[in-house]
Order: sequence, then structure tokens, then C-alpha cells
Amino acid sequence: MKRVISLSLGEVVLKGKNRQYFIRRILQNIKTVLDGTSYVEIQQEMGKINIEIDPVDETEIIDRLKYVFGTVYISPTWEIKSDFETIVEESVSYIKGLLKENPRYKTFKVMAKRGDKSYPMNSQEINMELGGRILEAIPALSVDVHHPDIAFHVDVKKKSYIYHEKISTYGGLPLGSNGRGLLLLSGGIDSPVAGFLMAKRGVQMDALHFHSYPFTSQKAEEKVMDLARVLCRYTTKMTMYSVNLLNIQKEINKNCPPDQMTVLSRRFMMRIANEIARRKGYVSITTGENLGQVASQTLHGLTVTDNVAEPIVFRPLIGMDKLDIISWATKIGTYDISIQPFEDCCTVFLPKHPSLRPTVEEMEESESVLDVDTLVKEAVDSMEIHRMNAKETL
Ligand code: ATP
Ligand code: MG
Repeated sequence: MKRVISLSLGEVVLKGKNRQYFIRRILQNIKTVLDGTSYVEIQQEMGKINIEIDPVDETEIIDRLKYVFGTVYISPTWEIKSDFETIVEESVSYIKGLLKENPRYKTFKVMAKRGDKSYPMNSQEINMELGGRILEAIPALSVDVHHPDIAFHVDVKKKSYIYHEKISTYGGLPLGSNGRGLLLLSGGIDSPVAGFLMAKRGVQMDALHFHSYPFTSQKAEEKVMDLARVLCRYTTKMTMYSVNLLNIQKEINKNCPPDQMTVLSRRFMMRIANEIARRKGYVSITTGENLGQVASQTLHGLTVTDNVAEPIVFRPLIGMDKLDIISWATKIGTYDISIQPFEDCCTVFLPKHPSLRPTVEEMEESESVLDVDTLVKEAVDSMEIHRMNAKETL
């Protein structure tokens, strides 16, 4: 009998000709996260990926697998021979073991899936026959097909797999299957969630953070690094570019109308993101913008920011309610860090009455007195680069 962690593939099974490409990516990503553990072998069979492991590492291995996108469930199983008498014997002993740990379990249901069509019994027959044999062997149990205490699964293929647990994972598409993207990561609640959601759709994410040191503190910078480290669990590795925006903010402050401060800074952030994307090969930019949330995120504000963006900009939170964003932030582990009260660079020189209806023409006129290209180049040339990977951060 082998201990096998079985992963159910998500929507990649719906892919046509390129399904194998996506599955190969998932397999690669699994190897990356399991590097250094005692897994023995990884095999893919129909909608499942089966990983034979040494049970001593089981908790650690399952923990790491939860962060791999593209699967919907993890089930710790036993791999057994497929002849029916073996299935009966092992199932009875499995359920007896389970009852020892959980004496209050009273009901069960067999959920058989016959993957090998040459098997002499179909799924329904296995359910009936195996259910009957379990009842005979453990008379204290009864069958409940609607709300069983134990949903006992048997996947019958060349080998068979018995299990009762289905641990939900995030689904999505395999990391790296949708190019490399740059996340504009602030210290707030929104942008880490945006980064997570795009990583979940397969974008290999790195992060770009703007600070206004020494107006913003080292502590604020560390907070953002902490957020990047949490995201890194999902992206396996992450580079964070840290750019000082202070000089640009001073130039805007000195030369442009005060009510345009925020949107003009936003346009510079985008241009800096363009420049980094060009230099480092990113094909998308992701922000945590959300329609109507604050002044710079009115329809007009978003339009003038988008106007200078070069790669495609993803705004996965655009239509979400704040409570939904908070619930994601809690689930992925960024919320508690995000609510630490450190200042953001946007609060430096914050206008009392930000412009709610900026136009591209107004922006371009205000910027005409600035040496935009040089400011962008200087900011990017002097950025700091931090590299992290999941192994150091888990
Ligand atoms: P968040 O909660 O993500 O900080 P927010 O509600 O505070 O968002 P804004 O400050 O208007 O909204 O920022 C909108 C988006 O612009 C952020 O989600 C982020 O993608 C980007 N952004 C804002 N400030 C920064 C920053 N200092 N560094 C990098 N990106 C930023
Ligand atoms: Mg913010």
C-alpha cells in the first residue's frame, strides 16, 4: 500500500489540444514547491495528479500543494490493488481506523468512480456491493446517502485509491501559463488581492512599489516587503522593485496645479511601470484599482491613468465590493499586514480637493512643463531590487 496525495485538476481538463501544455506546467510547479521534501514520484492519470510520498512529510507536503494553482481538491489517499476483494478488505480497515479517531461517526456513503471501463463492475455496482460489505463488517454504521459523516471515495483504475477527505484548493490556471506581469503593490488591502487573483489566472507576478523615503519610513517599506513575501507563497518566487517617487512628487508639487497631484503621480507610476516592463520583459501590469473607491479611481481618474499605460493593464478588483476584497485578503493572509498603520507615498503632498474629473488634455498640459522622460529614467535607474522565494518565506 502506498501513501498517495491525489490532486484533482480544475478547469485545465476543459482545455482541448493544449491541455497537456497546462498539465505539464502544473507538474513543473508541483516539482518546484515540493523540492526538498520526501516525495517519491509524480504521475498524472486522467483528471488527477498522484504524488507518492513518505507519510512522515505529509502535513508539510499538503501545505505546500495548497498554493499550486490549477487544482481544485487535494485528497490524501491509499493506493491499493484493484481486485474487488482487496478493495473490500482495505476499505473496511480504512473506515475502522477512521472510526477509532472519530468515534462519533455513525453514517457513511460509498462514492465509487470507475476510471477503468474494463473493470467488471460499474460505479453503481461497486457502491452497492462495497457498501453492503462494509455494513456487514461494521454493523454499528449505517448508510446515509444525503448527509453521511463519512463520504468514502474509491477511484478504481489500474490501481485504486481510497480516501474520505477533499481539501479545497484555489483552482485557477497554472502559474506561468499567462506570461510575466508586474503588480503595482502598495501597502493597502487591495493591491495584494489583485496580485493574487492574476497569479491565480496563471500570471507569473513580480511587484513594483513606490515610496517617498525619507518622507515615508523604513517601517512602511518593510510592511510592503512582508506583503510581497505572503504573495510569494503563491508565486513561488518574486522580485520586488522599489522606486523612490519623492523627486517626481516634488517636481509635480512645484510646477503643477495642486488638485492634480494624485492623478499626475498615478500617471508617473504607470510610466515607470512601462519602463520596467520594457527593460525586464513584463507583458502586463496589474493594479488594485476599484471603480469609484477614491478620487483617483473615478471613471475620469482611471481613464487618464490608463492613457499612459503601454502593456495591457489588469484591474481584477474593478467591480468588486470592499467587503469581498477584504474577505479575499483575509483568506490569502494579507489582511492583517495591510491594516498596519504605515503611511503610503500617495499621502505625501495629498491635495485637499483632488480633481474628480481630470482630462487627458489637462494632464498633458500640466506635464508639458516637466521633463517627463528624464524623471522616469532617473527613478528607474535608481530603483532597488529585492528577490525572494517561497522557501525562505513559508
Ligand atoms: P490599495 O489598498 O491597494 O493601496 P487603495 O484603495 O489605497 O489601494 P489607491 O491608493 O488609489 O487605492 O491605489 C490604487 C492602486 O494604485 C493600488 O491598488 C496599487 O495597485 C497602485 N498604487 C497605489 N499606491 C502605490 C504605491 N505606493 N506603490 C505601488 N502601487 C501603488
Ligand atoms: Mg493605497
